[in-house]
Amino acid sequence: MELIIEKKKIKEWLVVLGKDFKVVDTRKKVLPPKQYFFPVKEDLFSFDLKSKKLKTIDQSENILLLISSLNKLEAMTQLDEIMEKPQKDFFYWQKRDKSVLVGIVDESIKVPYGGDLVLEKINQKEYRTWVLNSKGRNLLKDKFFKKVLKPRTINYPSKPNIFKEKLLDSELLAEAVEWSWQSNHKIWNELAEKCLGCGICTYVCPLCHCFSMEDQVSLDNSKCFRCRQWDACTLPRFSQIAGGHNFHKTIKERYYNWYYHKFVRAYRQYGKAQCVACGACKDNCPAGIKIGEVLKEIVKDYKKR
Ligand code: SF4
Ligand code: SF4
Repeated sequence: MELIIEKKKIKEWLVVLGKDFKVVDTRKKVLPPKQYFFPVKEDLFSFDLKSKKLKTIDQSENILLLISSLNKLEAMTQLDEIMEKPQKDFFYWQKRDKSVLVGIVDESIKVPYGGDLVLEKINQKEYRTWVLNSKGRNLLKDKFFKKVLKPRTINYPSKPNIFKEKLLDSELLAEAVEWSWQSNHKIWNELAEKCLGCGICTYVCPLCHCFSMEDQVSLDNSKCFRCRQWDACTLPRFSQIAGGHNFHKTIKERYYNWYYHKFVRAYRQYGKAQCVACGACKDNCPAGIKIGEVLKEIVKDYKKR
């Protein structure tokens, strides 16, 4: 028995959900869903000079995100884990706890790796419903969903994602990426020539989560705000510390650091790569760098070594 919703009823269903949630459609946005829980820039707390009191800024709201792909849903599951361990990120969870993730995807689903409820397009008029937990179950309204014994389903042409398959062996990837740096593989010089150090790959990545902190004082000098904003390890000042020392002076070191964090450090810390092969970094890179191709070359040479 399948739970089905007709395509034409989805809009109406979302209007009803809109009474309890702020519905945000992320499906055509360049920046990934992480921006709603880990904003590009946010004030975390303020300090009042007169009262000497610290105040956390409450940013929680009931938000329902519509997400367009299984990769992005999977990335949200991973990001939740990163923001939970080793230390819970209070500011992320303040927003994330009350939110609901709804996938609306045009892909065949074997097992959804993220989201609370996922709608899988099964033909031109209908979507099959995958309920993943109680948050997702609470979104079901009988009026819009019907039980069907055998719905008519379309078969999506199965395009193998070789990059995604490579991610399955995250141990091999970690070893190969670290080896490529230690053995001074030529690819890092080639990439240093190409990379503009613009940071776009980090901003569009649904999993990158590095940030910097800044304290700002109000114009009348009465309050101070601690503000955090997205940062990117490819940017020149990312590894610069007080006194001016920079741990990663060259673009070669900075660009490698991006891979090191995603494929080596992440593997050691979480047992998997911080990448879901969504392709957003490749699609938006002004220098045309293709992460899947870079990893393919590194792994090929590592196996041959
Ligand atoms: S988007 Fe491309 S050019 Fe910009 S930092 Fe990333 S790899 Fe380099
Ligand atoms: S393909 Fe690029 S943008 Fe997508 S998860 Fe991997 S590193 Fe991030």
